Amino acid sequence: MTSLPETPTAVTVRAPAKVNLELFVGPLRPDGFHALSTIYQAVGLYDEVTVAEADEWGIVVHGRDADRVPADESNLAMRAARLIAAALGVETPLHLTIDKEIPVAGGMAGGSADAAAALLACETLWGGRHTREQLDTLAATLGSDVPFLLHGGTAIGSGRGEVITPVLAKGTYHWVFVPSSGEGLSTPSVYGAFDRRQAGLDLPEPVPSPAMMSALRAGDPDALAAVLANDLQEDAIALHPPIGEILHAAMDFGALGGLVSGSGPTVALLADGPEGAIDLAVALTASGVADDVRRATGPVHGAHVVPTPRRS
Ligand code: ATP
Repeated sequence: MTSLPETPTAVTVRAPAKVNLELFVGPLRPDGFHALSTIYQAVGLYDEVTVAEADEWGIVVHGRDADRVPADESNLAMRAARLIAAALGVETPLHLTIDKEIPVAGGMAGGSADAAAALLACETLWGGRHTREQLDTLAATLGSDVPFLLHGGTAIGSGRGEVITPVLAKGTYHWVFVPSSGEGLSTPSVYGAFDRRQAGLDLPEPVPSPAMMSALRAGDPDALAAVLANDLQEDAIALHPPIGEILHAAMDFGALGGLVSGSGPTVALLADGPEGAIDLAVALTASGVADDVRRATGPVHGAHVVPTPRRS
């Protein structure tokens, strides 16, 4: 006699970080967000979120920089779990465990990754029947980057970043990330500096650049390095000059190219293959330019269920 599969009481989902290969910022919209055109790439630094049925709601955060992440109702994973519980009409409380690897407040969307992971974990735990489109709509209410972290890969983000269109991208890219601690550099402060710099100018509606599309279609890291672009980079460097120094030094150490990831302060550096990434990481740390570097490849899949959590 075959036994029926047991209903899970806990589910773990792993979600990746992102880098914006291109970030063009357009005019302010009536809802207070800027129109964006961005090319996201999901990269292999992962947070894991485990949701387990419990007697009362709770959350614990482990891993690097866990003390900088709120372990309360304001945590984006908790908000995601509450949102999907309400959408599915489930009243069972959950305990959430987050294991962080993605730099916190670094412009790599760690909080959004945790929200995407929690959405998919709850949907799986409760056997939800949301379509991918419905999950995307829920995800977008939690943050502009959350739908992309459900999808992963390489994709255009339009609207305020939440409208995702997959991009044909060949090859694997080798990244080195420098998550420098950028005190005073928050997403609102960087956009505030951008707004002051652009005051009085008529910003065009942003669109993806054809050169970026053809570099990705060709799978050519040199061509990609030449077109990496971030409209917020100048403002992030003005607020936190060490970012500019890291970018400069990395080019001397053989990086193909680099840019500030999102609103920073993490610096994303593109290397010439896996050995190039190791050499670059060693040069940055040995020279004292950086004390923390992370290597990762992209593109990788978006949020996905894992059978065995890292912290099991
Ligand atoms: P963004 O670019 O979306 O502003 P980020 O990638 O720069 O985000 P996050 O790691 O997402 O940075 O953290 C931004 C802030 O969100 C943190 O300072 C933290 O207080 C808060 N936060 C809430 N939930 C989380 C979470 N699960 N993980 C990390 N930060 C969280």
